[in-house]
Amino acid sequence: MTEKKSYGFTTTILHNDRRKNIEHGSLHKPVHTSVAFGYKDARQLASVFQGKEPGFRYGRQGNPTVSALEDKINNMEQGVATLCFATGMAAIGAVFQGLLRAGDHVVSTSFLFGNTNSLWQTVAGQGVAVDFVDATDVNNVEAALQPHTRIVFVETIANPRTQVADLKRIGELCKARGILYIVDNTMTTPYLFVPKAVGAGLVVNSLTKSIGGHGAALGGALTDTGEYDWGRFPNIYENYKKAAPAQWGITQIRAKGLRDFGASLGPEAAHHIALGAETLALRMERTCANAKALAEMLEADDRVAAVYYPGLESHPQHAIASSLFRAAGSLLSFELKDGIDCFDFLNRLKLAVPASNLGDTRTLIIPVAHTIFYEMGAERRASMGIAESLIRVSVGIEDTEDLLGDFREALAAC
Ligand SMILES: *Cc1c(COP(=O)(O)O)cnc(C)c1O
Repeated sequence: MTEKKSYGFTTTILHNDRRKNIEHGSLHKPVHTSVAFGYKDARQLASVFQGKEPGFRYGRQGNPTVSALEDKINNMEQGVATLCFATGMAAIGAVFQGLLRAGDHVVSTSFLFGNTNSLWQTVAGQGVAVDFVDATDVNNVEAALQPHTRIVFVETIANPRTQVADLKRIGELCKARGILYIVDNTMTTPYLFVPKAVGAGLVVNSLTKSIGGHGAALGGALTDTGEYDWGRFPNIYENYKKAAPAQWGITQIRAKGLRDFGASLGPEAAHHIALGAETLALRMERTCANAKALAEMLEADDRVAAVYYPGLESHPQHAIASSLFRAAGSLLSFELKDGIDCFDFLNRLKLAVPASNLGDTRTLIIPVAHTIFYEMGAERRASMGIAESLIRVSVGIEDTEDLLGDFREALAAC
């Protein structure tokens, strides 16, 4: 394939491997299982280790199959460099491990993926202070900033209540203050939204969700968008300042967050995720359309007390979501009216599967307070706006009428 003109999202991903060397004419990047890599001679080995020549050192720090996936994610996010990890949580953990020191301060959002919330609680016990604010309004973020705030960390659309962060204005604030702005783009995916456009310096994606898309492999990624000036980040060790400042962050994360922490993505998982990524745009078109249709149907049903979906005009951040995202995502949640037992309702569904995952091809459904948000207790749930009857739906790619029919019949029977 000759040099790149600008192709669309799917064309770019489908043909991405061919822009590099094709091995044995293979149209899929082969699954390389070797942990060690050989060189011409000992001098070349030394020069690869010293970063003077490109090449792979040891499987924990990089692998050709994983690297091909990193390149795809990087293209989707329009980044300068991307690293993959064993899971989305490992990617977020690498931020803590690689970039924060005791005495630092982080501002995050009250409406946060449950395990990320738990991770920030752990971090707080290790000498890094974390404040959780309502990030749907930049003023709350600004009020929480301190002189030693190093990172502002938000999500695009929160799971499960679908609050949308004030993404653009938080980006402007972070830029003005020289603070690293990290956006977890898992719920939107780079097909719906590119956080670089609002000034994010690092972007998190859980590849387990919509990008892999089939619930068949775990993975995570961190993308450096090139928007952040690492020269302003006080925690870069001298060792990692050898190249231009644009490289500092990713170099330190690769060493501290990936090499030392060791949560590396395996080549087989990278292969599964790369296959899934080829159809990301097609699946997102269908799931977003299904989610919107389901949200509208639920909102019109008098057995339903509330529906949370950014694609509905009743959603408080509908305007932000419509201006920033190509569509409103595949996640919605809702509450049943008092007197309807949510387990009774869930058990009447024939297609939607009770399961804890997101971004699968199948519609998955879960009673939030009784499962994923159980451990944190009723008080913190209430502070996050999680009603005890809240049901989360990760909408799949089923035929729309089948999906709506499943919910319609289950509601009618309650
Ligand atoms: C699932 C998820 C993660 C964690 O990803 P895993 O691959 O499951 O570790 C992080 N952030 C968000 C928003 C998620 O939905």
